[in-house]
Amino acid sequence: HIPNDTLLYLNNVTVSFDGFRALNELSFMVREKELSAIIGPNGAGKSTMMDVVTGKTRPDSGEVFFHGEVDLTRYDETEVANMGIGRKFQKPSVIESLTVWENLELALAGRRTPFASMFGALSSKGARRIDEVMELIRLSDRKAWLGASLSHGQKQWLEIGMLLLQEPELLLVDEPAAGMTDEETFRTADLLRDLARERSVVVVEHDMAFIRALECPVMVLHEGSVLASGSLDHVQQNQKVIDVYLGR
Ligand code: ADP
Ligand code: MG
Repeated sequence: HIPNDTLLYLNNVTVSFDGFRALNELSFMVREKELSAIIGPNGAGKSTMMDVVTGKTRPDSGEVFFHGEVDLTRYDETEVANMGIGRKFQKPSVIESLTVWENLELALAGRRTPFASMFGALSSKGARRIDEVMELIRLSDRKAWLGASLSHGQKQWLEIGMLLLQEPELLLVDEPAAGMTDEETFRTADLLRDLARERSVVVVEHDMAFIRALECPVMVLHEGSVLASGSLDHVQQNQKVIDVYLGR
C-alpha cells in the first residue's frame, strides 16, 4: 500500500558492480515534508542509493517513482535536479572569495540562467528569497562575511542555503555533521528539522547523537537492503541491527 502523500518510492532497486550487489532489491518510501534518516555500516549502499535517486547511477532493475508516476531511473542527473531533487555532498562548493550573500546570489542565478545576475540586477523577489534562506541557515548576521572566514559548520549551512535556492521538494544530505563541533551538530539537526516543514529531507549519517537530535524515523541499510526501520530506539533494540552495526 502506497500512501497518497508519498513523494519518493523506490521499488525493488538492484545495483550491481561486477556481480556485487551494492543495492539488493531495495524498497522504501519517503513522504511529503518528512524528515528521515538512513544509517548503516560502511559499504551498506547509502551513497549508491543517493546516486540512483539523483540519476547518477542507473539501476540494473527496479524503479524510483517521484510523485507516484515519474520514474527517475529514466532521467539523467541534470534532469532529476531540475525536477526538484537536491543533493548535498560532503565537500562544500562555497566560493571562499565571495561573501555569504554573493554565494547565495550566484546560486539563485545559476538556477535557470547561468551568468544572468552577474550583469543584471537581482529582482526584489530574489533578494527577499535570499534573506529568507539566510534566516533559515542561521547566517543572517554573516551576510557580508567572506566564505573563507566561515567555520566548517557555517560553510555546510551556506551550501544547504545554496541548494535551497533551487527550491527542491526533496533534499538528500550525505553526512552533514561530519567534522562539526558538538554545538554545530545540534544546530544542524535543528536546521534540518526546520527545512522538513517545507520539503522532504533524507539524511545519511553515522553520528548517533546527531540522529537522535533529528527526532525522526530511521532506516537501517545493510548489504543493500533495509534491515530495520522505525524510531531510533526501536531500531537500536533490533537484534539484527545490534549484530551488524550497533553491537560494537
Ligand atoms: P555506503 O555509502 O553505505 O558506505 P556505498 O554505496 O558507497 O556504501 O557502497 C556500497 C558498496 O558498493 C561498497 O561495497 C562499494 O565498494 C561498492 N561500490 C560503490 N560504488 C562502486 C563503483 N562505482 N564501482 C564498484 N563498486 C562500487
Ligand atoms: Mg557513503
